[in-house]
Amino acid sequence: MSIKSSIRLMAVLLLMIAGSAPQAASQDLEIFKRGHFEIYHNNRSMANKLSWKAEYHYKRILNHLGIKGFQPWESGNKCPIYIYETKSDYMQATGAPEWSQGLAEFKNLKFSSYENADKLPENTLPHEMTHMFLFLFMEKNPVPLWLNEGMAQFEEEDKKTNYRRKRFAKSLLSTSSFIPLDQLLSLTRVPEDNVELFYAQSASVVDHLINDNLRANYGRFLTGVKNGKSAEDALKESYQWKYKNGVADLEKRWLEFVRKKY
Ligand SMILES: [Zn+2]
Repeated sequence: MSIKSSIRLMAVLLLMIAGSAPQAASQDLEIFKRGHFEIYHNNRSMANKLSWKAEYHYKRILNHLGIKGFQPWESGNKCPIYIYETKSDYMQATGAPEWSQGLAEFKNLKFSSYENADKLPENTLPHEMTHMFLFLFMEKNPVPLWLNEGMAQFEEEDKKTNYRRKRFAKSLLSTSSFIPLDQLLSLTRVPEDNVELFYAQSASVVDHLINDNLRANYGRFLTGVKNGKSAEDALKESYQWKYKNGVADLEKRWLEFVRKKY
């Protein structure tokens, strides 16, 4: 992942937190509905393709979350996705800056992007959808930064993006330059001098938690965090023997995972 895209992701997060983007003008857009989503668009063929992709990511991310009974937009309202025809329409409607490819507005519970946004179906959409799911699941509780950005990136599907991220994570091991996990898990801001490291490492820790364990354990871990438990306690309780010493064991096993699998 390039520094540029790291900065973009960081800024997308800031936008989401601010939640103050102006209301989008939707009157000129058509609506295409499928499954859990309604796509506001000016291009039916694109909306059709994107709706299948949105449903695919929806099922995939929920499966990774492993939380029993958590199915947003299952009944009643669908989740709106606004796809503007041009970047300038998107910027004008949402107040997003030039570098932005897409954003999730928590206040209005909707996604916005534009037709030729870079890697929209494979990266931006699942990234923002993950932020939205975690926000909805945690309700009033803040989502830990490493978990929020780590999982959002883990759900991105572009092969080159993932290859670069894994290669970078592996390079951390040979130089022992990774952020100690007890520090990573307590960060509330992206470290300015280590943006790329923060994103790559967070995604890799989530990759280990999800893919190196039984799926339901991750759901239990998230539920623990939602109920106010520290990462240390939530790890011990939800994964039991695997991280019986909490974060110290997580670090040890995450390093083994990267060494073997990347
Ligand atoms: Zn993000």
